[in-house]
Amino acid sequence: MPCYVVQFCGPPADPSLFGAHFALSVANVPRVTDEEAMEQALAEAAAAREHGDVPIGAVALVEGRVVARRHNERELRGDPLAHAELLILADVARERSDWRLEDVTVVVTLEPCPMCAGALVAARVRRVVFGAADPKAGACGSLYNLCADPRLNHEVDVRPGVLAERSSALLSAFFADRRAR
Ligand SMILES: [Zn+2]
Repeated sequence: MPCYVVQFCGPPADPSLFGAHFALSVANVPRVTDEEAMEQALAEAAAAREHGDVPIGAVALVEGRVVARRHNERELRGDPLAHAELLILADVARERSDWRLEDVTVVVTLEPCPMCAGALVAARVRRVVFGAADPKAGACGSLYNLCADPRLNHEVDVRPGVLAERSSALLSAFFADRRAR
């Protein structure tokens, strides 16, 4: 399955943070920078092309460690909700049996859309790091800024533009290839 949650072994780091299974998972995963996390998100994005989906990928970080990674499955599932960000939020919440993801950073190759930015706020995600800006649908600064609207009950820190050229190149190549067919 494209879903990926880090397997565990060894002693728990802090069982109070997660369910026991998840703490065990995280303890043995190396910490990564935003850029290194984005590399993994880009690899996920590339995998979306295999089933004809627009290449967008995401990873979730807890304490700087990748705990889950997903990619866009909208075409694969025929599901308008199957954006990488929503899939990854659902994975992490399910793993913890908790919808509050206050210590989670989502690293995604493209600026989140209104649906996904809304979900990041609803899940109380701490931080979102994205690659390319999306002038047609972006809701973390381009068209809207749902992540930093003081009228909402939670704000998400936003770091835009990480490895943005790589994300843009992946998307451009995908659409050029689709037009050529
Ligand atoms: Zn979205």
